[in-house]
Amino acid sequence: MGLFKLGGVSVKNLFSKPATKTYPAEPFEPYERTKGKIVVELDKCIFCKLCMRGCPTEAIDVDKDAKLWQIDHFLCVQCGDCVRRCPKSCLHQAGMWENVATMRQCEVNEFAADSPDQLVVSMSYGQAAAERAQKDEVAQKRIAEEKARKAAEKAAKAAAKAAAEEEAAKAAVEEEAAKADAPKAEDATESDASAAFDASAGAAEPSESDAPKAEG
Ligand code: SF4
Ligand code: SF4
Repeated sequence: MGLFKLGGVSVKNLFSKPATKTYPAEPFEPYERTKGKIVVELDKCIFCKLCMRGCPTEAIDVDKDAKLWQIDHFLCVQCGDCVRRCPKSCLHQAGMWENVATMRQCEVNEFAADSPDQLVVSMSYGQAAAERAQKDEVAQKRIAEEKARKAAEKAAKAAAKAAAEEEAAKAAVEEEAAKADAPKAEDATESDASAAFDASAGAAEPSESDAPKAEG
């Protein structure tokens, strides 16, 4: 039964179109639950920074004084956490991911300096991008240092283990040698004891040469 089913699927696949799409030749059509690109309605934003603080990838940068809200779409993983956190509901996901960014830049949303009511959206290497590049460099350095520290720790542990094993082997050899020497020592003690016994016995019993003198 399984073989028939497998054969049916194989034959069907031979004559059907591939499941994959020829993007970008074929346009992307979002699915019903596609989350997509983060969009901000800056006129509702109170610059509370909750979205920035919660973002797991540090993609958002908010400057209250400059009334600036910027996002690095290359860092954003479109998790939607900022959307859920925003107390003013000014963030949402556009349900698409095309044209999010054409190169590694931040999308800057701000009010125009000369006309505070005018919203300006631009792409630039903003302060956040520069800070991020610096952070990346620091992070890479820290990772390299951590790797070196772990390698040194591992080498020290291996050396300590080798030294302990060497010590244990040396102690075992010494113990074996001590065991091998033990019978000789016992023999020597026994012969010393019999010699002492003989000597004391000899002192207690008068010798034959002493006997006549005693009798006389
Ligand atoms: S969707 Fe997620 S990753 Fe993207 S900006 Fe919001 S919190 Fe950050
Ligand atoms: S959480 Fe909402 S209101 Fe607060 S800074 Fe972010 S976008 Fe603006």
